[in-house]
Amino acid sequence: VAKQQGRNRFNYFAPFMQEASQMRIELANELRNALKNKELRLLFQPIRNLATDKIDMAEALIRWEHPQRGLLKPAEFIGVAENTGVIASIGEWVFQEAAALAASFGNGFKVCVNKSAWQFRHEAVGVEHWLELLHEQALSPHSMVIEVTEGLLLEANREVVQRVQSLRDANLQISLDDFGHGYSSLNFLKRFQIDFLKLDTSFSDNQLLCEAIVSMAHKLGIKVIAEKIETPGQLEILMAAGCDFGQGFLFGAPISAEKLHRLLITQ
Ligand code: C2E
Ligand code: MG
Ligand code: MG
Ligand code: MG
Repeated sequence: VAKQQGRNRFNYFAPFMQEASQMRIELANELRNALKNKELRLLFQPIRNLATDKIDMAEALIRWEHPQRGLLKPAEFIGVAENTGVIASIGEWVFQEAAALAASFGNGFKVCVNKSAWQFRHEAVGVEHWLELLHEQALSPHSMVIEVTEGLLLEANREVVQRVQSLRDANLQISLDDFGHGYSSLNFLKRFQIDFLKLDTSFSDNQLLCEAIVSMAHKLGIKVIAEKIETPGQLEILMAAGCDFGQGFLFGAPISAEKLHRLLITQ
C-alpha cells in the first residue's frame, strides 16, 4: 500500500517537476560548453552623464545565444550558472570583455559589471588578478565599476567585507544596484564604502523621496545613477532630484560593443 501511495504521490507531482528539473540539468550541461562554443554575448547599455549629456559609462549585461532556445536573458540562466559553479568562468569572461571595451575607449570611460553575492562568496581569484588584467590593457582601475546588490549583506562575513574593501582599495569602483528594492540598503551603506548607487524609476513617482535619497547619497560622496528610465516625465523628476547619471530605454537599450562605438563617435 505504501509503495502504491508513494507511486501515486510521485505521479501527482511528476509531470511538471520532472520537466523543470530535466530542463535545468540540460541547461547546466549546455552552459558548460556555452563559453567554449562562443554562445555568450556581452551587451552594453549606455549611461548618460546628466550634467554634460554625454555617454561616459556603460553597463555590461550578459546574454546567451542558445542554439535551440534563442536569446536567453540572465534571469533564465544565471541561477543555473551559480548552482553548477560555471558562473566562475563566466564572471571571468565578463570582466575580460568589459575591460577590453573600456580599454578601447581609453581612460575616462567607465564600464559597469554585475557581480552576484554568490560570486563574491566563491570567487577563488583575488583582486590582484583583476588588477593584472587591467594593467595588461593599460587601464586605470577607475575604469571598472563592480555592481553589487544588498544581497551581499546576507553573506557579509569578514571575508566578503574584506573582498569588497580590497576592490575599493585597489581603486576599482563599487556601485550598489537596485537601491531601495529590499530592506537593507541603508545597512549596506553603513557597512560598505561605495562610489555609486543605482536608483530605479519605482521611486520616480515621489519627487521628495528621490530628492532625499540623492541628497543623502551626495553627502556620503556617492553618485546616483537613475536606471530603467523609460519616459521623459521620469527623467524630468530624476533630474530635478539631482541624479548624476541616467540609464534606460529612453536613452537606449543594451547594444553590442560595435554599436556602442558607433554611438559614441557621433556624440
Ligand atoms: P540589473 O543589473 O539591475 O540590470 C538592469 C536590467 O534592466 C537589465 O536587464 C536591463 O536590460 C534592464 N533595463 C534597462 N533599461 C530598462 C528600462 O528602461 N526599463 C526596463 N523595464 N528595464 C530596463 P537584464 O539585462 O535582463 O539583466 C537582469 C539582471 O541580470 C541584471 O539586473 C543583473 O542583476 C543580472 N546580470 C546581467 N548581466 C550579468 C552578469 O554578467 N553577471 C551577473 N552575475 N549578473 C548579471
Ligand atoms: Mg546592474
Ligand atoms: Mg540587479
Ligand atoms: Mg538594477
